Amino acid sequence: MKLKEVTEGKVRIFVPDPKEYMIEGKFDPSWAPVFYNPKMTFNRDLSVIVVSLLKPKIILDALSATGIRGIRYYVESWKSEQLILNDKNSTAASLIQINVKNNGIENAKIYNKDANALLYEIKSEYIDIDPFGSPVPFILSSVNATIRNGIVAFTATDLSPLEGSSRTSCRRKYDAINYKLSSSKELGLRILIGKIIREAATLEKTVHPLFSFYADYYYRLFAIVESGARKADENINKNLKYFGECPRCGFQTFVDENCKTKCPICGENFIIIGPLYIGPLHNMEFLKRMIDTYSDFNYLSSFNRIQKLLNVIEKEAKYKSVFYNISKLASKLKVSAIPPIDSILECLGDASKTHFAPTGIRTDKGYEEIIRCVKSL
Ligand code: SAM
Repeated sequence: MKLKEVTEGKVRIFVPDPKEYMIEGKFDPSWAPVFYNPKMTFNRDLSVIVVSLLKPKIILDALSATGIRGIRYYVESWKSEQLILNDKNSTAASLIQINVKNNGIENAKIYNKDANALLYEIKSEYIDIDPFGSPVPFILSSVNATIRNGIVAFTATDLSPLEGSSRTSCRRKYDAINYKLSSSKELGLRILIGKIIREAATLEKTVHPLFSFYADYYYRLFAIVESGARKADENINKNLKYFGECPRCGFQTFVDENCKTKCPICGENFIIIGPLYIGPLHNMEFLKRMIDTYSDFNYLSSFNRIQKLLNVIEKEAKYKSVFYNISKLASKLKVSAIPPIDSILECLGDASKTHFAPTGIRTDKGYEEIIRCVKSL
């Protein structure tokens, strides 16, 4: 395998030479013998900031590929007592050895195992699950392996089931009914969290989001793992519900059951999806720490993008409701000219943009007020 050295953050990593794996003039990372996707730098950059605040004694990067993620945590976030890197691909495991040495890390443990097998052998305070596609095959084992009050991080790139485009696949993988709705970009993340809560509950554990976001073509979630059947039950009872959107007038709300429920505004049958998580997408105290800290990472190539994302998330995090997609709402209401988002925010007074969609607004004000603003502008 021909290698090329790349710099990302503060580390230098050998990756398969992209020139060797071009398809129709474009680099396709999934064709390379070891996976490295430069488009995931933003995901890794933000994760470096999160891990720097967590300072876990043990970091386990269960699906490491080149090792870049765990190596960056060790070099840029925090020198953990133990750094564990694993990949079932033996070529990847050999490359991790090279990359660990190349970055002067002496005490890393490198495994060449199936992640699920490894996760039933060891426990960790921080576990990273960054797979191809869905993280579902690793939820149970990773939650099981995370110590009490430890953190598990998931990337999900399978947006098509989560956002309701592949409905049968969502039913199969996430055990949830799904349809493509106006705010599916956010609902997909909530379906993922709902699935993790239900899987964790089988182990008498539960999870609460610490920080989560949507970017490019994936979701990223950092979650605190708590232990105890009572805590698992409480979280399910309080935070797992269904979501309904009226196909006629666009009214949306959380509902208790997956049953035929009529829209209270126009009487049309709701489209119902779920089960999904309806609680906060971030821990507010942790979010504040992220905002207070990120400027220490101004060397990151995606620093400006991180700043923009955190600024929007800081504002939108205070609202409990799912965002309204103004362009979809305007088209349902047959309002021909979509009002500018800034004008709607001004009209509503207490509202914010959302990072999930450029045409989205987040507010806890009622549907009628939103409609009044959309129609009056
Ligand atoms: N975390 C890496 C990064 O940030 O660059 C990328 C990981 S890549 C998307 C997924 C990796 O998981 C691949 O290297 C693949 O070989 C590995 N993998 C897939 N299934 C696995 C399993 N069951 N156990 C261990 N590794 C697995």
